[in-house]
Amino acid sequence: MSRVGRNIHVSVDRLRQLAHRDARPRKIKADAGTCPKCDSHYSADEMSRNLRVCPACGHHFAVTARERLEQLGEPGGYVELWPELRAADPLQFTDLKPYAERIADAEKSTGMGEAIVCAELEVRHVPAVAAIMDFSFMGGSMGAVVGEKFARACDHAAQKGLPLIVLSSSGGARMQEGTLALMQMAKTVIALDALAEARVPVVVVLAHPTTGGVWASFASLGDVTYAEPGALIAFSGPRVIEETTREVLPSDFGRAERQLANGQVDAVVDRRELAQRIGRILHILSRPDVDPTAGTAPAGLQWAQGGAQKVKSMMDRIRPGSTDGEDAG
Ligand SMILES: [Zn+2]
Repeated sequence: MSRVGRNIHVSVDRLRQLAHRDARPRKIKADAGTCPKCDSHYSADEMSRNLRVCPACGHHFAVTARERLEQLGEPGGYVELWPELRAADPLQFTDLKPYAERIADAEKSTGMGEAIVCAELEVRHVPAVAAIMDFSFMGGSMGAVVGEKFARACDHAAQKGLPLIVLSSSGGARMQEGTLALMQMAKTVIALDALAEARVPVVVVLAHPTTGGVWASFASLGDVTYAEPGALIAFSGPRVIEETTREVLPSDFGRAERQLANGQVDAVVDRRELAQRIGRILHILSRPDVDPTAGTAPAGLQWAQGGAQKVKSMMDRIRPGSTDGEDAG
C-alpha cells in the first residue's frame, strides 16, 4: 500500500472533532505536570480521560502496556497470558550493574515481569490476541522472554483463529542478552510467517519509539500498520546517524508522518481513535467466507479455512515443543 507521492493524511477520521483548537497553552492548577511540546498544564484525571494525549496540542505521552489494554479493550476485560515468564541471565552479564539486578529493579518499578504483555481481549466486540510492548521496562528491549511471549501469542492467535494486535514501543534488542536477544528477531519473524500462512490478520501499531531489532523484525511485518503521531520509527535514531555520518538529517527523520509519506506505514492514527480504527479494520477483515452452496451464513467470525491446523503443524516442525526453554528456564 504505497503512499509515495500522495498527500499525508494524519488521523483522518474524527480528529477534527477530537482536536482542541486552542493554540495558547492552558495554565490551570496542574497535578500531573506540563506538556513538553506546548507547555500546557493538565490534571491527571483529564489526561487519563484523554488517553494520555495532550488536550491542547495532541502530544502523545508514553502509556504502559496495561493502560494500553484498558484503552483498546473493555475496562478490565482482558485476560493476561503467560505473566509468569521471567528472564534468565545465561551470560551472567554485568555492565554498570548486574543484569539480574536490572531485571529485578525494572520489575519493582513497573510492576511488570517483562517488556511485553500478551493478552486476550475484545476490541470493539472483535475477540483478538494482543502483544503490547512497554518502554518503561528496560526501554522495551527485546530479550528471550519478549521473543518467547511474542511467538506464543502468534501460536495462540493462529490456533484460536483470532487476529493478532501488536503494539511496539522499543529501543531494540536487549544488549544484556547478546546473541540470544538478536536470535529473537528471527524467532518472531518465523512465528509471524506462520500466522500469514494461516491467514490470520496481524495489525501492528508503532508507538514512540520503535527502533533497532524490533523495527527490523516483527514490527515491520503487519498486514495493516498504524503509527501514532510523532513516533520515531527507524533502525537507528537520528542522533546516532548524525554522529556517525557527520551529516545533518531532516527534522522529521524517522517520524511517523515521514514514514507514512515513505510508504512504511498505512496511516498515522491519533490514540483517541485507535481502538475504533482497529475494531473497524478487524470487522472488515473478519467478514465470513460465504459458502454459496450453504443455506445459511456461517456463525461468528471466520478468518480462514483450516488455517489453525495448518499453522500448528508448521510450528511443530519449526519449533518442536514450541516452548523450548529459551526463556527464563
Ligand atoms: Zn501539549
